[in-house]
Amino acid sequence: MTELTDFSKLCIHTQTTKPWSIEECIAHFSKSGVRGISIWRHLLEGKDLKKIKTLLEINKMEPVSLVRGGFFPSLESHQRELALQDNRLAIDQAAALGAPVVVLVCGADPGQDLEVSRRQIIDGINQLIPYAKNMGVKLAIEPLHPMYAGDKSAVVSLEQANDMCESIASPMVGVAIDVYHLWWDNNLKNEIFRCGKNKNILAFHVCDWRVPTIDFLTDRGLMGEGCIPIKQIRKWVEEAGFEGYNEVEVFSDRLWAQDQKLYLEDIKKSYINHT
Ligand code: ZN
Repeated sequence: MTELTDFSKLCIHTQTTKPWSIEECIAHFSKSGVRGISIWRHLLEGKDLKKIKTLLEINKMEPVSLVRGGFFPSLESHQRELALQDNRLAIDQAAALGAPVVVLVCGADPGQDLEVSRRQIIDGINQLIPYAKNMGVKLAIEPLHPMYAGDKSAVVSLEQANDMCESIASPMVGVAIDVYHLWWDNNLKNEIFRCGKNKNILAFHVCDWRVPTIDFLTDRGLMGEGCIPIKQIRKWVEEAGFEGYNEVEVFSDRLWAQDQKLYLEDIKKSYINHT
């Protein structure tokens, strides 16, 4: 399998270096030779997006995706409407920054069946497609690990995401494949190749699953610190035709507590050796 030999396809999520502002992420990533950045929306609050776009350009950083939209399901129709409004705002923000993709954490409402939530997700995405198309921004359905099915995502496998994409059947909608959420699935290889046939892989996220994991939200590992066969999964994703960035997305109280500049060097080492 092809080894990574440089950082030309390394993208880092701003949430990976959570203590940093958007300006600090751009400056430090760029200085250390990272070219891709996926931007979490809370860092944009109160910011002039034109200035951020200029900052990205000056520092030769490529905005890979905006994170995140979604959260479509609700028992309340009013909430579902608010979610659509927020997704339109996310699409506007992505377009303003030049990011080609909004990643969708699709949502779930614990008060209703997962199947109902999944129908509301498909309905929500269908309603957004004309707007997304007009703005030139694609929507990536990110299946989450089943432990999040209660309230974060009724989409918990790549098979479900692929079923949704095939029923929606729009070139504006694809999937984000995150090894943390999908590594356990014995059907993963086949489903990645199914994406390949549909040409709809929009993003590839990497980190590692620590054993034992002490917190299921904020104890992810750097690549090489856990049990996910990351190189194998990257190989399948590339065989399926994906040529985009490998996005490092790590949420970790342990790593956020470190000096973030030193941590950035560890991210690069872990990327070259274990991705
Ligand atoms: Zn992810």
